[in-house]
Amino acid sequence: MIYMDNASTTVVDKEAFDIAKKYLFENYANPSSSYSMANDVKADMEDAREMIADILGARYNEIYFTSGGSESNNWAILKSCELTENKGKHIISSKIEHHSVLHTLSYLEKKGYEVTYLSTDEKGLIDINELRSAIREDTVLISIMFANNEIGTIEPIKEIGKLAHEHNILFHTDAVQAVGHLPIDVNELNIDLLSASGHKFHSPKGVGFLYIRSGIKLTSLIHGGSQERNRRAGTQNTFGIIAMANALKNSYETLDKDSLYVKSLRDKLFSLILENIEGSHINGDINNRLFNNINIYFENISGELLLILLNQNGVCASLGSACTTGSIDPSHVIMAISNDKKRASSSLRLTLSKYNTEDEVNKAFEILKKCIEKLRI
Ligand SMILES: *Cc1c(COP(=O)(O)O)cnc(C)c1O
Repeated sequence: MIYMDNASTTVVDKEAFDIAKKYLFENYANPSSSYSMANDVKADMEDAREMIADILGARYNEIYFTSGGSESNNWAILKSCELTENKGKHIISSKIEHHSVLHTLSYLEKKGYEVTYLSTDEKGLIDINELRSAIREDTVLISIMFANNEIGTIEPIKEIGKLAHEHNILFHTDAVQAVGHLPIDVNELNIDLLSASGHKFHSPKGVGFLYIRSGIKLTSLIHGGSQERNRRAGTQNTFGIIAMANALKNSYETLDKDSLYVKSLRDKLFSLILENIEGSHINGDINNRLFNNINIYFENISGELLLILLNQNGVCASLGSACTTGSIDPSHVIMAISNDKKRASSSLRLTLSKYNTEDEVNKAFEILKKCIEKLRI
């Protein structure tokens, strides 16, 4: 089996797994309890918070643990709107956001909010000038993703944040695809709220965090106990949190080396496909792109059938977001960059990781070529 769907989820790091095991079998105390076993796990959890904060240039009390990217996005968007209710009910976002952002926004639209969805160019990039002219007196939130999960395009986060702050507007970014993959400093980039998810960078599923700039009095999305300084109730996923911090530290410690390696594999696979498979076209930008992302449009191919054939031949790939697979809606991201239904239903995403090999790249290419030939007969 060749796994090339790392934008959907990743394998857990061996070291992160060993750490998780420790907090499942040995120190499994509830961090809110009051005996030394609990105090120990609480201390380790706070160390994890500090580690994550350090990596992002944040302070430890600005990191809040959640169940993952979807919860962080829901929390950031729903509660920053509640916070600014009196100022206005206008939000700016983009057409290529993840569904956990888009569906939260459509929920708010039903509650009387107005949302401007910025379009992008054919490479998936938003236009800063379009953003500037979308800003109104009653704009309370700008939510734009850091890097797109389907085509890997990296948005101009620093400029967006600067513009938001010039107008006294909160800036949230869904950085689920960027954290662990790109250097991030929340202050340098003018970010107020940042969502991340552990399972996109080799830690267990069901754990993530939200960075909340201090001074922003976001209220709870989940009510109950006083965990997370009274802002996110529920017993913390200690094994996941501590494993996540470790996986994140590992990602950044070897990022230079790993990103070069993965990029070289990615570029090789990209050129093998584009040069040898007729009617294949890149989706997105070749340069301004996450180093592990490939997204290609194959003329006259059903993406769904291609995925089935690839699966039969041992290649795990995707049509775009995992959430879209299984529904027949063509990718909203490819639609946004091309306005071409055929393109949106004939595109394939391959996302690599440091665990892929050159041998896998060669094999995946051969399999892909044969599958395309078979489908085009
Ligand atoms: C995976 C992903 C999410 C959702 O994260 P979960 O932890 O799976 O809820 C949100 N946004 C982007 C860009 C993603 O890639």
